[in-house]
Amino acid sequence: GVAAVSGGVPPRALTVAGSDSGGGAGLQCDLRTFLCCGVHGATAVTAVTVQDSRGVTGVHEVPADVVAAQVEAVVGDIGVGATKTGMLASAPIIEAVADVVERLDVGPFVVDPVCASMHGSRLLRPDALDALRTRLLPLATLVTPNAPEARLLTGLPVTDRAGQVEAARALHALGPRWVLVKGGHVAEGEPAVDVLFDGERVLELRAPRVATPHTHGTGDCLAAATTAWLAQGLDVVEAVRRGKQYVTAAVVDAYPAGAGAGPVGHRW
Ligand code: PLP
Repeated sequence: GVAAVSGGVPPRALTVAGSDSGGGAGLQCDLRTFLCCGVHGATAVTAVTVQDSRGVTGVHEVPADVVAAQVEAVVGDIGVGATKTGMLASAPIIEAVADVVERLDVGPFVVDPVCASMHGSRLLRPDALDALRTRLLPLATLVTPNAPEARLLTGLPVTDRAGQVEAARALHALGPRWVLVKGGHVAEGEPAVDVLFDGERVLELRAPRVATPHTHGTGDCLAAATTAWLAQGLDVVEAVRRGKQYVTAAVVDAYPAGAGAGPVGHRW
């Protein structure tokens, strides 16, 4: 016979994120990445987006107290080894998430400060940037902005490596333990260099730049893979290294589903 519990209980991770109906980014990407990295994925849904490969055409926000209640239910019963946030949509949702993360043990806490989709649709209300800076970043183990997000959060021009480091310092001053300023939007044509900063050391993480228009979900995938490795007990540097390896392979495996930007793949 087959044992009822054959493989034991895997590590668990939680994503607090929005739904992408196209399945390429958002919580759908997070769940797929968690699975491929060996962890059980739980979700606290923040918003339902109407979205396909060409962009976002609608956003329906979940009430802030319902977002917090999902986190509370998951952490209280299932327990999580690490947590990430993606699309948070509004200041009330950010405040509710910050309240519950302050109160509960969510493990290492990765904040991917999602502001807009690659096509430019807003995934965070402009008036929510302040709540992100003052309520959520101080709680973060790691914050993972791309260059446009780092620019929005700091007001600095993040156009080259020195700019990435300067933004990492400014963001670190807001309270997160580690900052990863990603280089995917900086110096096209160069290898993608991400800057990881803990307040003292600056680490540069390199990966070849993959030439493809199908990069939908790249940021989610990196943050989710990193969170999955944190849930398995790796330290931040090693988790980010492996996260970057994962997303590089995922971009190589991207496919053109739909007329626009296809999603990163997870088939290897
Ligand atoms: N939709 C949702 C729900 C997301 O969380 C994100 C990114 O975090 C996106 C869309 C944007 O993905 P991309 O910029 O890769 O298109």
